[in-house]
Amino acid sequence: MAGFTMELSEEQKEVRDWLHGFAAGVIRPAAAEWDEREETPWPVIQEAAKVGIYSLDFYAQQYFDPTGLGIPMAMEELFWGDAGIALSIVGTGLAAVGVLANGTEEQIGTWVPQMYGDVNDVKVAAFCSSEPDAGSDVASMRTRAVYDEARDEWVLDGTKTWATNGGIADVHVVVAVVDPELGSKGHASFIVPPGTPGLSQGQKFRKHGIRASHTAEVVLDGVRVPGSCLLGGKEKLDERLARAREKAEKGGERLKNAAMATFEASRPAVGAMAVGTARAAYEVALDYARTREQFGRPIIDNQGVAFQLADMRTAVDAARLLVWRASWMAVNGRPFTAAEGSMSKLFASETAKKVTAQAIQILGGNGYTREYPVERMHRDAAIYTIFEGTSEIQRLVIARTLAGMPIR
Ligand SMILES: Cc1cc2nc3c(=O)[nH]c(=O)nc-3n(C[C@H](O)[C@H](O)[C@H](O)COP(=O)(O)OP(=O)(O)OC[C@H]3O[C@@H](n4cnc5c(N)ncnc54)[C@H](O)[C@@H]3O)c2cc1C
Repeated sequence: MAGFTMELSEEQKEVRDWLHGFAAGVIRPAAAEWDEREETPWPVIQEAAKVGIYSLDFYAQQYFDPTGLGIPMAMEELFWGDAGIALSIVGTGLAAVGVLANGTEEQIGTWVPQMYGDVNDVKVAAFCSSEPDAGSDVASMRTRAVYDEARDEWVLDGTKTWATNGGIADVHVVVAVVDPELGSKGHASFIVPPGTPGLSQGQKFRKHGIRASHTAEVVLDGVRVPGSCLLGGKEKLDERLARAREKAEKGGERLKNAAMATFEASRPAVGAMAVGTARAAYEVALDYARTREQFGRPIIDNQGVAFQLADMRTAVDAARLLVWRASWMAVNGRPFTAAEGSMSKLFASETAKKVTAQAIQILGGNGYTREYPVERMHRDAAIYTIFEGTSEIQRLVIARTLAGMPIR
């Protein structure tokens, strides 16, 4: 029996090629328009829903691929098409994962399908954790959730920021503080159902890149949700809080630090998005270098250009391998003893920034204009070193893991 293979199965190749077809035929041609409009590309999301790419079924199938490569392959292909549009398509999945990770079976069955709506009436969902004063330092979150026992309701108050799909989503997943003494251990996640009074969109951000993806503040003013909207249920929360209080009393646990390890398993997916953008820019640059002639020969005939392309391709492939390793580890329950999830996100996101800048250089003046896509890809790539934990936070997690220090 072969113990190791880099060969994708026929089924995986089929899915990859199908996604690539959609990315090349539908997403890429729409990219420049939605980047300029800075609006959610509803018609493209609807197209994705029609063919089955924007759906819970598709996401779940990729999520449960036993090799772990389903999600990274899907992310790479969609983000190869365009990062802003692709984030509009997969943003709901980030909220769905919040429910899948913490919700009961009943909550998953009730809320996750609603997040997507149906083919004729697509909906999006938002995951709201970050706040104006709680970005990397998640433990300093202030949004409060207070239990009203008489009515079996939770009351949420606070301001969330940077929420992808915030305010335009039907279902919002909101992380809030239930016990301020416990730092990030005192947080819990809540579903805010569509149309709940007190939830409103604050400012919508005008961004440097991924402009087709909607990013906004979400204001929660006396938002009341039923007890059943606490993800995981009250009993589980009470048990968890009791354990955390016990540990805090013993003084053995660091409670005030950032919840930096929380996303270790989801970070390779963001790494895969970055690989998609980097590969897209590399391909445009390769094509251009082969056809653009100066001094009577294609510019790729100059080692100065060809070596850049060699470095770009090497970095893209190395990033993908780190992403695939971490994704395989996550799905097979291997412990991230060297923070391999963070490693993959760090390397892939830095690669995307660098490779897209190199692509602009290879296209010369054309690379600097909106006539060619690498300028947009470079603006888009800058997000990867910021969201889901900045590059500095990834390095911190890796370094602390290697040193055997507590991460959260
Ligand atoms: C387009 C976009 C979409 C987003 N989508 C979502 C979403 O859907 N839901 C959500 O909850 N959040 C979302 N975010 C928020 C994102 O996760 C945060 O922006 C990110 O975690 C960084 O937080 P911050 O912006 O407050 O930066 P800060 O934490 O203020 O960091 C500022 C700088 O300081 C550095 N820094 C901070 N602490 C340390 C340290 N200890 N050591 C070294 N350097 C440090 C950082 O690396 C960074 O360079 C999104 C952000 C953007 C821009």
